Amino acid sequence: MAVFAVGGTVRLAHPRSAGYTNHAMSKQHKHESGTNPAANHQATNRRDATAHWADETAAKIIREKGDKARYTCASGITPSGTVHIGNFREIISTELVARALRDLGKEVRFIYSWDDYDVFRKVPANMPKQDELAKYLRFPITMVPDPWERDESYARHHEVDIETALPRMGIHPEFLYQAQKYRASTYAAGIRKALEHRGALKDILDKFRDEDHKIQGEWWPISVFCDECNRDDTDISGWDGEWGVTYHCNLCGHTETVDVRTAKGVKLGWRIDWPMRWEFEQVDFEPAGKDHHSQGGSFDTAKYVCKDVYNWDAPISFRYDFIGIKGSAGKMSSSSGKVVTIEDLLRVYTPEVARYLFAGTRPNTEFTISFDLDVIKIYEDYDRLERVAWKIDPAKDDEAYRKARRIYELSQVEPVPAGDGTLPGIPPYQIPFRHLCNLIQIADGDIEQTIAGLENSADGPALKPEQIPSLRQRCECARHWAEECAPDEFRFRLRPTGETAALSDTEAAAIRDLRDTVVARIGDYADDKACAEAIYAVAEKHGMDGKVLFRAAYQALIGKDQGPRLANFLRSISKERLLGILAGY
Ligand SMILES: [Zn+2]
Repeated sequence: MAVFAVGGTVRLAHPRSAGYTNHAMSKQHKHESGTNPAANHQATNRRDATAHWADETAAKIIREKGDKARYTCASGITPSGTVHIGNFREIISTELVARALRDLGKEVRFIYSWDDYDVFRKVPANMPKQDELAKYLRFPITMVPDPWERDESYARHHEVDIETALPRMGIHPEFLYQAQKYRASTYAAGIRKALEHRGALKDILDKFRDEDHKIQGEWWPISVFCDECNRDDTDISGWDGEWGVTYHCNLCGHTETVDVRTAKGVKLGWRIDWPMRWEFEQVDFEPAGKDHHSQGGSFDTAKYVCKDVYNWDAPISFRYDFIGIKGSAGKMSSSSGKVVTIEDLLRVYTPEVARYLFAGTRPNTEFTISFDLDVIKIYEDYDRLERVAWKIDPAKDDEAYRKARRIYELSQVEPVPAGDGTLPGIPPYQIPFRHLCNLIQIADGDIEQTIAGLENSADGPALKPEQIPSLRQRCECARHWAEECAPDEFRFRLRPTGETAALSDTEAAAIRDLRDTVVARIGDYADDKACAEAIYAVAEKHGMDGKVLFRAAYQALIGKDQGPRLANFLRSISKERLLGILAGY
């Protein structure tokens, strides 16, 4: 397959490949409101179409593509490696625009193309059985065996991973498999058209190249996988002006004339393939990464190919930016280096909060997904948004309400009605993520015990049965984060009964006092503040600095010098268990 040179840099013929691009690393946390501050909002009850970038894009699609009953939104990737979180940005960006169109009463066909008839160019570094995989270089990805032997091919393995993860986030595209389509000669007419217009196509590609990089010699818009050895190291030696294409294999020497209407191995080059499929599927919208949207990038050339050769206006598009990763996604991460997957994301963020990360950020801004302490703040931000959307907390003004409400709507797994009407169901049970992490660690990671504790707790709002499934998801994320991603100082384990810390006599005396005065009546404190005052009274009585008592208490409870805020911590553990742990002093 051709490697195109653009402006002096060599560009792969098919650059939207999974696993190949690195994440842009950024230390900055650029999560923002997701709305355009410059947009002019009108204070009306009608939802302002400019309130959210997905709505802006939906309005633009209708404006520029005409008012139709149905629109096709497309997205796609080559499953050439692990589909990572940077690739995922395209999928969810498309899905958010599809939802915005649906909210305007439009029917949407959301297609996701697996470009699994692309050539296997390179074995990604994080793959097992490197040598085995290397034997299949230049094969179509669909013919590369699955090194984990779980699925029918290497391509299918990566596809299945994504097809399993997406529904959890409420994303349900119609998947198209390009290997299947090409092998069934679905695109025979499109291929013939490309052959007929090969001079015009060459001119379009050359338009974006400087003199030194124009296409040299004979050029064909197609490539062929050899029928004998399955590799694409073939040269086209002729075309009969109709359906017959003759090729020669440089590897095995096979020569053959095939009919494009029945041949399995004939394929368009990426820069022709993409626009041909825009017309074939009548695509109205497709976002693309920075690399495609560069000057002379494949979007630029595809626009001309689509219009001049296939007689279809290129889809509305926008450029989405890279995603940075901050913190470690955990030992469980499929990562070898920087590959963070949707699964990794969903182990730390509930589907709603994961959607919120993308719905709350404009696609053309680079942002960072955090796996470190920022996770706590992201959950807090989401909870605040939720309280505003449910009108539990007041918004600053109507405009702020509409913005928050819209981002919240788009963050839900099941689409909710747009506007300012009542949200379906009841508000989810809110528990601060930090506190939940502490409760789960107190329960030694037992989620059901944690939920039961909340059900029986007199503190805070009552937990309703219908709130439990989403709370359970949050618990699973909290447990994973605390165990796998949180910094060491955040992690703890309560000492078993009978295990004691090495404390000085003064410290031990103070801990005894803490046990017999504060812990013995732990259920009596109205709030954390009242309990904290009692703790300080113990320190004062023993002539100790509060800090010294805290350190001794954490040593006695969890064997560390620091821990969660002591009053709240003590009140989160059952009295019997505390008395048991402190019995030995
Ligand atoms: Zn061959």
